[in-house]
Order: sequence, then C-alpha cells, then structure tokens
Amino acid sequence: MSRLAEPSPRLTIRCRWLISQTGPPLEAGWVRIERGLITGVGRRNPPGPSDEQIDLQDTIVLPGLVNAHTHLEFSDFEAPLDATGGLPGWIGRLVHHRRNLASAGFPAETLARAIDRGLHESAAAGVAHIGEIASCAPPTPRGPRAPMVRAYREGLGLRPTGLAAMTNAVSSDLDRLARAGRPAGISPHAPYSVAAPLGRWLVDSACRRGLPVAMHLHESLEEEEFLASGRGPFRELLERLGAWDSVHPPPLIAPADWIGLLARAHRGIVVHATHIGRDALAVARLARHRDRLAVVVCPRTTRLLSGTLPPVQLLAAAGIRVAIGTDSRASNPDLSVLAECRTLVDAGLVSPGESLRMATAHGAWAIAAEHRSGRIAVGRSADLVFLQPATPARDPHAAAVEPGTRVTATLRRGRPIFGRLIPTVDPD
Ligand SMILES: [Zn+2]
Repeated sequence: MSRLAEPSPRLTIRCRWLISQTGPPLEAGWVRIERGLITGVGRRNPPGPSDEQIDLQDTIVLPGLVNAHTHLEFSDFEAPLDATGGLPGWIGRLVHHRRNLASAGFPAETLARAIDRGLHESAAAGVAHIGEIASCAPPTPRGPRAPMVRAYREGLGLRPTGLAAMTNAVSSDLDRLARAGRPAGISPHAPYSVAAPLGRWLVDSACRRGLPVAMHLHESLEEEEFLASGRGPFRELLERLGAWDSVHPPPLIAPADWIGLLARAHRGIVVHATHIGRDALAVARLARHRDRLAVVVCPRTTRLLSGTLPPVQLLAAAGIRVAIGTDSRASNPDLSVLAECRTLVDAGLVSPGESLRMATAHGAWAIAAEHRSGRIAVGRSADLVFLQPATPARDPHAAAVEPGTRVTATLRRGRPIFGRLIPTVDPD
C-alpha cells in the first residue's frame, strides 16, 4: 500500500489530464489547493508563484468519486450472499445473518470494524463522498481521515405495534448525528417493508429537519407482484420473518405515490428503479420532480439480483439525474465506483464520460453535496482522485474506467485519505 504524504498548505498539482466536470477535459491541466479548497484551475503553466508544485505526469485527476448508495455495515463480507431466489431470497439470507449477529449481542465492535473497513476500501477506490444507509447511528470513524459520509437513517416496519419503537430510535439517532455535526438523511427502506403511517412519519421528519431522503424503489418484479396482489415471494418472506399480520394487513404505498411523498423533501434519491419502466406514472412523477429527486443505480447488484442492468437510458431520456452506488458487499464483490462505471460502459449503456459524470457531479447532487463537491472548480472543497493509467491516455474518459487504471491517491479537503501525491517509484 502506498504511504500517506502530507501536501503543503499551498500546492499546485500538474497532470496529463484534468477532468473538472465543468467543461471538456483539460490536457496539461493544473489545480491549485490552499487550506483544503480549490483556488485555481487551468491548462499549461499555472499563473503566479506557488509554494510548491508537483508534476504528476501521466496522471488523470478527477473530482473525488461519490458512492451515492451503500451499506457500510456489511463491508466485512468476503463475498456476496447467494442470490438464489432473487431479491426476496437474498433478503431472507441477509436477515438471517443480522439475526445471528443480534443473538450474539450485535457487538458494537463488529459494526465499527466493518464500517472502518468499508471506509478504507472506499478511499482506496477513489471515493471521497458516501451516501450511506445506516440501520443505527453509525459510530464515528476511528481513522483520522475518511470519506465524508451522509448517513441516511433507515426506518422500516409493517406492524403498528412497532411504530413507536422505530420512530423513537430514528429520532434519537438523528439527534445524535445532528449533535455531532455529521451529515444525515432519512431512508424509508422499501415499499414492501414500510407501512404507510411509518413512511409518512419518516418523510415528515425529513422535511421538519431539513434532511434529504433515500429509498429503494422498483427493485424487483417480486416487489411489483406483492404491491399489486399482496402475494408472492415477498408475502411468504414477510410471513416467515413474522413481519406480516395477515388478519390486519398494513396499508402500503404504491411506488408512484412514494415518489410524490419523497419529493416533499428538498432532495431525494430513488435507489435502483430497475423496473420503473413498467410504471408510467412513476416515471412521469420522477421526471416532474427531477429538480429534487435523482436515481442511484447499482449496476452489479442489479445484475446479481435481477439478472439485468438498470434502465439508465430511459431515466436519462426523461431528464432525470442518474448517480452510481455500489450497494453493499452483501451483493457486490467490492466498493469500487469505477467498476460500476465500467459495467455500464461495457454494456454499451453509457459513454465513459457519462459514467464519470454519474460518479461525480450527479452523485454529489444526489446526496445534497453539490455545493462542495462533484466538480473541480474554484471555491469547492479539494476532494480529488488521482488515477494512473496503464499507458499514457489519449482519451482520459475511456482511460479512467479501464481495468488497468490504478487509484494512486484520494484527497478530501486537500488532505490524503488514501495514497500519496508523489508518483510512486517503489513497487508497493
Ligand atoms: Zn441498498
């Protein structure tokens, strides 16, 4: 692993390509950093004296990547869970895993270790910002530096008897995050796992607290079947888990109505949207609220659990911003956003440049961090990723998503959270 090296307080970095996301890539680009902020961007020779200059030669510099949807608490999984039975089968195995942990007292140490591992892996993959779904208030990262995490506190439940306990837990976790000054959000889990009264309370809370929202929606055909008929594999799963009251079934909310509800928050994410093309009303509502709502797709998870890839072209044609997430290591072999980009590019669904915009500017907007990140521009936080292509790049967009390209450093607020800025000459 590369060693960390501190950049000086005022630093100009030169590189072969600078992909700023404010215009075309800049060949022979440079970026100046002072006190954690970007204070200059340009081509060729940087104007004026600088305290220190580093020439990174063939390096491609991008805004720090945004993993707009993940669940870091599963970052200690060595491999994804078996996907037999699609999403309901996979969820059954995940709940079984969680209950095993709970019966062991769900040691806080286990959770903290998994989250730390996920943060480290993310930084090493060039990620500076994370949209995290948190089933409790996540512990403060133990390392001195890590990607910025917006923790969307997840709420779920179908039984009226569990409503008070869930709302109390969500409220107290959000209070803790607010006291710690940490970015937060609220996430109703999914339309098959959140009864209408809880869903309305969660969205009301987000509006009251001025927080963004995120929700898994239109993820599987089994979800559609259950919402339409009350039957199918999801019904069987919920009954097996003891979550379903067949005498007094809870009121549920249809996906298109969820979209209307989520749009009451100032910013929201619809996660997956795999089968949204079958629901014209949901697409129309999403398009109508595109100034507030983005979709986050998780291509490799969708391929594993649904055997298809996300409908990014349909969403883009409707003018909806699409960002990228990895989902968790329970459904994905790693937390590499660039590998997600590559999956879409290899399938011919987007160009390399479009995939990088999804992983930077659109991701920052989706998690309500667009004023600080997602673009390399004066006044923004110096959140940057440095990529070393296998051979000098002619097309920087294509080179950035090639499998042989390596992340050499990730900066957040001008400080390395992974790697170092001086080109590595030793083989580590
Ligand atoms: Zn998820």
